[in-house]
Amino acid sequence: MIISGNSKETREQIKEWKKQGLSVGLVPTMGYLHEGHQSLMEAAKRENDRVAVSIFVNPIQFGPNEDFASYPRDFGKDAALCESVGVDLIFHPEAEEMYDEDFCTYVDMDGLTKELCGKSRPTHFRGVQTVVSKLFHIIPADRAYFGQKDAQQLAVIKKMVRDLSMDIEIIGCPIIRETDGLAKSSRNTYLNAEERQAALVLNRSLAAGKKMIEDGERDAAKVKRHIEALIAQEKMAKADYVEIVDFSDITPVEKLDDAKRGEVLCAIAVWIGKTRLIDNFIWNIGRGQRTSGQDYEKRSMS
Ligand code: AMP
Repeated sequence: MIISGNSKETREQIKEWKKQGLSVGLVPTMGYLHEGHQSLMEAAKRENDRVAVSIFVNPIQFGPNEDFASYPRDFGKDAALCESVGVDLIFHPEAEEMYDEDFCTYVDMDGLTKELCGKSRPTHFRGVQTVVSKLFHIIPADRAYFGQKDAQQLAVIKKMVRDLSMDIEIIGCPIIRETDGLAKSSRNTYLNAEERQAALVLNRSLAAGKKMIEDGERDAAKVKRHIEALIAQEKMAKADYVEIVDFSDITPVEKLDDAKRGEVLCAIAVWIGKTRLIDNFIWNIGRGQRTSGQDYEKRSMS
């Protein structure tokens, strides 16, 4: 496994593989890897000849009062996991490698990035799009793998790739959860035992919302209110937002059947003490809950 913090050297290696006719899959991460990241790497491994993982805690996607400094890091453990999955290359740059002192070019987007997480994190998606664009230039892969855990990010990256005519296929992968339902996240490590228990309210309230839809409810406001009420019952939890939107463009829907491409995203962000956690489900009109992210991505790219 190659480990490099150098953009030029990394690009040369990817180009060499491409010259040999090998396909390359990229998994962008911020490290502190868990089974959620691992599932992305495994998908990339199945579908490509070579797999590259980037590990970079990207400073420009954090707001001034966010957790950039305290974000968990353990490169040794991450590298061991990558090795065990059969990753071929880890790109692990320093911040200075990615951002010159006079760096001033950003990728931004209207619409999609202003909703949901964009409301409480106004510069977040600009930072994500900028770093992902840079990664796509440094690692010109055939496919890049993103988790549905960050559903808005997945929608934004797909839109950016379409809008800017980038030559890469974006593959969405399902959410991996702990056995008790909590979505795996590097940020779960911030939770103490009591908060860890309280955090179950995310999946519990989403499951209740999903059940309402399964039972026939189509009024988004009613489902939203039910989820909000369940979150309010948990003393340690404070909802940042509960939203039901069209997954294709992240605009609000009133009736669930109104989604333009037939997929509704129900997304929540909840503060558990000082930790902000996100979770979601995607409801596929006519087919129910989406189980395979990839079917959707392949169809939607065509
Ligand atoms: P991060 O390191 O948090 O930036 O995440 C890197 C990638 O892993 C993103 O595409 C995430 O959506 C994905 N990811 C994180 N947690 C999970 C999870 N529990 N299940 C599936 N994908 C995940």
